[in-house]
Amino acid sequence: PFDFQGKHVTVAGLGVSGVPAAKVLHGLGARVTVVNDGDDERARAQAAELETLGVTVRLGDGSTLPEGTELIVTAPGWKPDKPLFTAAHETGVPVWGDVELAWRLRGLEGRKAAPWLAVTGTNGKTTTVQMLASILKAAGLRTAAVGNIGVSLLDAVTGETEYDVLAVELSSYQLHWAPSLRAHSAAVLNLAPDHLDWHGSMEAYAADKGRIYEGNTVACVYNVDATDKPSTEDLVREADVEEGCRAIGFTLGTPGPSQLGVVEGILVDRAFVEDRQKNAQELAEVSDVDPPAPHNIANALAAAALARAYGVSAAAVRDGLRAFTPDAHRIAHVADVDGVAYVDDSKATNTHATEASLAAYDSIVWIAGGLAKGATFDELVAGAAERLRGAVLIGADRALIREALARHAPEVPVVDLDRTDTGAMLQAVREAQRLARPGDTVLLAPACASMDMFTNYNKRGDAFAEAVRELGA
Ligand code: ADP
Repeated sequence: PFDFQGKHVTVAGLGVSGVPAAKVLHGLGARVTVVNDGDDERARAQAAELETLGVTVRLGDGSTLPEGTELIVTAPGWKPDKPLFTAAHETGVPVWGDVELAWRLRGLEGRKAAPWLAVTGTNGKTTTVQMLASILKAAGLRTAAVGNIGVSLLDAVTGETEYDVLAVELSSYQLHWAPSLRAHSAAVLNLAPDHLDWHGSMEAYAADKGRIYEGNTVACVYNVDATDKPSTEDLVREADVEEGCRAIGFTLGTPGPSQLGVVEGILVDRAFVEDRQKNAQELAEVSDVDPPAPHNIANALAAAALARAYGVSAAAVRDGLRAFTPDAHRIAHVADVDGVAYVDDSKATNTHATEASLAAYDSIVWIAGGLAKGATFDELVAGAAERLRGAVLIGADRALIREALARHAPEVPVVDLDRTDTGAMLQAVREAQRLARPGDTVLLAPACASMDMFTNYNKRGDAFAEAVRELGA
């Protein structure tokens, strides 16, 4: 294991990953300096806490490399072209992200070094690691879903609880900064343009996602149905994996050999079949997956593939999927009012996620809008036009969606709400109710970020649910 004793470590960025990283490194005997661009009240409070421990904190200057730095541990969101990293590069100082740090700390002080089953992708990561953890638990394994929500990676590796295996969610940023990560098995769910301003290009973004396969020992799980280029299968082919590591595909269609897929409403495994007399193993029914929308079946198949690669039984896959309930604001059914279903997919903050949720319903009154983050909506609207009964637009960039609707779905009635106050959601839901007929679904799937009107997507979804309850009352 890496020896931190007396090492000069610079932690780049306070915050969710920086503060715990500084504490752990300090505890391991490193001489820690935290550098942070911001100098606001929150940063000062965090700094004060760290300084009482003996950590040096430098606020308001995240660009200058502190004298004597031997290692940088950076927050994953810091862009690689920052001057701090240029300086590190010139002087040969290694840069690790939070994931690299956690990876290096596995097996610390005689603890069990649990293998990682890793998941990345543009959308569906959180859902998939939660499904995976549910399956692993059903198999009697000590595990946790680790990443953006729930247990942090650093806690899972250095905390009190011992695990047999971890279900790990990784972002493209985290993968960029994790050069020595070697998962047991890993899946890339899908790959659509996102965060390109950070990575610089689609190629660089795909290359960072593809890092998740590097050094895998058992399985590289890819999406057979993905149409994006490069495909997740391309990434497997380019990766340098251990000998014997297998490429395992998942598909919503009939699976080929070494694939998992769906046959007549049954999730079927043709990659890890225990019974030599058979060439396929039934895992679960589509109706065991909540919600049974196509994109979510894909998530379930990816989770099942990783669990099966780890040796989990078919029965545990079924039990784990049945025990799984999705997190709030991810295609959550809020209520039925007068024969109309109201569904909250506030987490659909980009067009790729929204495409998946629009594909899950036949006749939709769509509530959309917010901050577009540079997205275009033509493809999304053209693909969903046939299923739209109406649209209600809210938020700062709603004109972009309105124009796309005018181009590709001119027949669809559109209500354009020119307000961004907090009461706007109630009005949006009322307008949607007016447009909906029994059997329709009113779907909040904004395709945009929420920060123009709400603190975050949770608050936006809560406002929607609240408004729906008022309708029913
Ligand atoms: P992430 O952790 O990658 O952000 P989540 O599981 O939180 O993903 O889901 C985010 C949103 O993406 C969901 O609200 C849903 O609309 C959409 N989504 C989930 N899984 C998929 C998928 N496999 N393909 C496309 N969109 C998906």
